[in-house]
Amino acid sequence: MQECLFCKIASGAIPSKKVYEDADFFAFEDIAPQAPTHILIIPKKHIPTLNDITEADGPMMGRLMVLASKIARERGLDAKGFRLLANCLEPAGQSVFHLHFHLMGGRVFRWPPG
Ligand code: AMP
Repeated sequence: MQECLFCKIASGAIPSKKVYEDADFFAFEDIAPQAPTHILIIPKKHIPTLNDITEADGPMMGRLMVLASKIARERGLDAKGFRLLANCLEPAGQSVFHLHFHLMGGRVFRWPPG
């Protein structure tokens, strides 16, 4: 999607601090980190929100979880603990409408998040 910020980041049209890339996924440092590690993991496919995933996206979503776990391990967060979350729609805190997961770690998180 041409006008989508995260599509532009995934294509390289807008620069980012890239953490990982393959044919289906892109991961990059959040521009306003809320934790010592704050990485955004996105599918390259433009999916606006978690409401928009389909059964056909199931295998891709599974691979995204495996990727998140791998990045967490590479950052040494597997032993320290980390948070992986997706905000869905504005009331939950979503501000960019291209599906993304926040991988956050390096500090203690509270629950509920508020
Ligand atoms: P959300 O509010 O869940 O939709 O998350 C969007 C995230 O994207 C926020 O944490 C922002 O800090 C982050 N963000 C916005 N623009 C950029 C950008 N150009 N590069 C990296 N992260 C960004």
